[in-house]
Amino acid sequence: MAVCSVCFRHCTIKDGQLGFCGGRIARNGRVEAFNYGRITALALDPIEKKPLARFCPGSMILSVGSFGCNLRCPFCQNHEISWSEQAKQYAKTAESASPEELTALAEGMRNRGNVGIAFTYNEPLIGYEFVRDTARLAKEKGLKTVMVTNGTAEPAVLAELSPYIDAMNVDLKGFTERYYGKVLGGSLRQVMGFIEAAVKTSHVELTTLIVPGENDSEEEMRALAKWVGTLKNPDGRGIPLHVTRFFPRFHMQDREATPVRTVYRLAEIARETLEYVYTGNC
Ligand code: SF4
Repeated sequence: MAVCSVCFRHCTIKDGQLGFCGGRIARNGRVEAFNYGRITALALDPIEKKPLARFCPGSMILSVGSFGCNLRCPFCQNHEISWSEQAKQYAKTAESASPEELTALAEGMRNRGNVGIAFTYNEPLIGYEFVRDTARLAKEKGLKTVMVTNGTAEPAVLAELSPYIDAMNVDLKGFTERYYGKVLGGSLRQVMGFIEAAVKTSHVELTTLIVPGENDSEEEMRALAKWVGTLKNPDGRGIPLHVTRFFPRFHMQDREATPVRTVYRLAEIARETLEYVYTGNC
């Protein structure tokens, strides 16, 4: 038996078994990244797609994903690699790549506008050791490093990563513990702590997906924006917020896509407090 210290779940895992996220395993009384170097998705994407609006605008970034997730968002757009039955299959079938191979691939794409490596698609923090080793190497080669994350990890994990991560997009999926706990299987408190620490060392942008009937009230957006407005990026500027539109997916098909006017209205409310607010999927 071993206890994982990566996220608030603190899974107790029997030797040879996986934790809740499906990305970590207990071996010889220690928990390690089972998905280390296991690649399920690889693409050269515009950096705006991460989304990052104020970090290397107009550039491309080699984006890489593995499998597993420590949340249970019922509308996950990447359920094939996060927490569906299909995702579990990747534990057997995913290709492997070393930090050296991935960094060399990213360097080879510089002539296509690539500025670095983004760890994205599934939740990178559950396999943070691979992110750390690859990002360290990438930075030695002069590449930029980006992490797209749900921000659900203990401070010690972020402290290990932050010297090597230039920019992050962190999901701030809502602003109530009810929504995080009951719908997403997460912890708002842990995400807020993560964001507060992340802005001290990396350029951070946030994403809030507006789900009808869950987190779409003006009151909640006002509270969220007020809190985000208390934070500053390392350059002294405010934190950009991406307000995005939900579409029915995966296990949440019981409601329509968010009305575009709702997204625009909530973005307007966020702009009462924040300097940089963007809408997405509209
Ligand atoms: S990272 Fe995975 S194994 Fe570790 S505590 Fe969180 S869910 Fe459990």
